[in-house]
Amino acid sequence: MLIVMKFGGTSVGSAERIAQAAQLAVDTAAKGHQIVVVTSAMSKVTDLLIGAARQASTGHWDPKLRQELFDRHKSVADALIGKDAARHGEVLEALRQRLDRFEKLCFGLSMVHELTPRLLDAISGTGEMLAAPLVAAAIAARGKASQAVDATELIVTTDQYGGAEPLMDETRAKTAARLKPAIDRGEIPVVTGFIAATADGVMTTLGRGGSDYSASIVGAALDASEVWIWTDVDGVMTANPSEVPEARTLAEISYSEASELAYYGAKVLHYKTILPAFRQRIPVRILNSFNPAHPGTRVSVEGNPSAQGVKAVTSIRGVILIAISGTGMQGIPGIAAKTFDVVADQQANVLMISQASSENNICFVLSAAEAPRVVAALRAALEFELMRGHIEEITAEQQVAIVAAVGDRMQGSPGIAATVFGALGEAGINVIAISQGSSERNISLVVTERDAAGAVRAIHRAFQLEKTS
Ligand code: ASP
Ligand code: MG
Repeated sequence: MLIVMKFGGTSVGSAERIAQAAQLAVDTAAKGHQIVVVTSAMSKVTDLLIGAARQASTGHWDPKLRQELFDRHKSVADALIGKDAARHGEVLEALRQRLDRFEKLCFGLSMVHELTPRLLDAISGTGEMLAAPLVAAAIAARGKASQAVDATELIVTTDQYGGAEPLMDETRAKTAARLKPAIDRGEIPVVTGFIAATADGVMTTLGRGGSDYSASIVGAALDASEVWIWTDVDGVMTANPSEVPEARTLAEISYSEASELAYYGAKVLHYKTILPAFRQRIPVRILNSFNPAHPGTRVSVEGNPSAQGVKAVTSIRGVILIAISGTGMQGIPGIAAKTFDVVADQQANVLMISQASSENNICFVLSAAEAPRVVAALRAALEFELMRGHIEEITAEQQVAIVAAVGDRMQGSPGIAATVFGALGEAGINVIAISQGSSERNISLVVTERDAAGAVRAIHRAFQLEKTS
């Protein structure tokens, strides 16, 4: 099997963690598999780089930052391969080159005082470029040939800096040409997560947390058998354990369940991440590098078809419910169209929509950060309707949360909504808005933020999700 293994920031957060990641890669290879590693930056490094870029853009470049980054990575090299002078020297040289580039970019930025998204990508991706040589050296030190590869040589993207999208045909060709020979020789390439490049070779990033996406893209480009995401939790859980102590890990879920869950706040996998693997039906495993014996969660086409209706319950906070209401809206066409045109214009992402058949009210949920500008734009765009009284008011309700019950097998199973609302009724929780897509994989509701944890617990209990199915 060809397995792409991705290690997140905490899984490469120290010399010890990197040693363990390397050991996991080598041990899996010893079972007869071909391995490609994708690594994140060491934990907190990306934040530090972004902070440095912001600071430099105000005219302050502090060379101490370079030293700090060098010291942190060098101490890892010392611990991992300090006794191997040749390899140690090579890694330090790689670190120096990469930090030279970083320093030049920041210095330039401190002169021009303008932080463009393009420049931010060039700087914020440095963390992965520093981590990859360390991980490769740790693997090589365990007797398996390994080299660090910058994903700028593999993944070709659009030029949407800060959140670029892969161009899969170009990516496939470049990735295969660059990695296949090494894989066939039995080497373990270590690819930088998060970063990529445009067709012209300008560095881009895939967005915060983008290394999972990198792994899925590289897996798809190489027709891998599986993608393994090593992280710091045991897998995808039936609920957030801080809200529901009896929550448990799901052994198997489908891509659609994983994407619904990621969409609704379970931070384990970003929904976009799964797409490249999903298109090629490559299973994705979520595994815990702190607890490697745990089988984790397998995400596949089938999921676990024998499981009951609801598989997991999640909540998202930090959202705002916007409602447009007025009895005059009835039968006036175009208000919904205008509303969502404005939302799209503001590039805001709608998390949930609901309209009653009386047509007196359209409401939808946005992240709190996006809501103020959308509300202002809506008031301007719907000025005429407000003046004519077709719309009475546009309100923004804060301190709400979305709670979502998710599961493929909800489709066509009657009584699920009754159980959800029965559980909430019994718990005395007031539901502000409801939405179920016709895919029937998700029932979402809006409650006050104060009620969110209680709502999640009540639904979890009603479906007995703490019991293994
Ligand atoms: N290092 C990047 C970030 O912190 C990418 C990742 O960790 O997946 O966002
Ligand atoms: Mg990360």
